[in-house]
This record gives sequence, structure tokens and C-alpha cells, in this order.
Amino acid sequence: MVAEAFVVRIPRTMYSEMVAHVTAGYPNEACGLLASKDGRVVKNYPTPNAAEHPDDFSEISPQDLLRIANDIDTYDGEMFAYYHSHPRSEAYPSARDIEWARRNGLYYIIFSLQYHPEPPYARVFSIQADGSVSEGKLELTD
Ligand SMILES: [Zn+2]
Repeated sequence: MVAEAFVVRIPRTMYSEMVAHVTAGYPNEACGLLASKDGRVVKNYPTPNAAEHPDDFSEISPQDLLRIANDIDTYDGEMFAYYHSHPRSEAYPSARDIEWARRNGLYYIIFSLQYHPEPPYARVFSIQADGSVSEGKLELTD
């Protein structure tokens, strides 16, 4: 067994909101951002998927990004993780995901709905500037 490189903790209620958001987006990809403050995840920003082909990719519109960044500023938080769903495939970053992630420095939380209508499951990744991918452990907190 490979040791997990890092742990990302998310409040259980927030995780349920994320699951509801990505399930509602099915059969398209759905996306959102998580913000942290002092290293703790504090807020979930589910957004519409602005990608040209939302069944194949996910993207947050510049307007939504700006609105979220402004809100995060009000409590001195930070963008922490980008999350999105893969409606038909494994919860693993696609080549295009890696291309974006290596430039934005966010954790990537990916949900897979490949067993829909079973509930989606999620995996978390850290993607380095050189494109290397490492998987962490998601922990739900009460
Ligand atoms: Zn993806």
C-alpha cells in the first residue's frame, strides 16, 4: 500500500452539499470551489459549469470567480480546492484537468458518478507545476 501524501479535512455537512451539487449536475460535470481560513476548510461555493461542453469538462465563469474571490477577501480566507465531477469516468484528473491544475495550485477533489444512481464517491489530488499527480486522503469531520 502506498502511503497517502496529505490529508484534506472537510466538514461532513459540507461534503453532503457537494454531493448534492454534483448529483444535481448529472449527466454533466458540476463544479465549485472550497475556501479555507487558517488551514481549515470553511466555505463551499457551488457554481454553474461554464464550460463550452459541460458533459466533458468543467469551468467556473470569470464573473463567478471574481464574486467568490471578493467574498473570500471579506474574511481573509484563501481559495483551497477546486472540485468537480466526472459523470462517466473514474475520479482521477484528466490530461486537461492536470493542465489547469498545475497552474492554479489548488487541491483537486474529483467526484465520480460512474455508478449513478449509486451515490458519487470522491478522491483528492495535489498536482504539481511539473504535472505530477499525488493522491491524498479525504477525511470528513463532524
Ligand atoms: Zn475532470
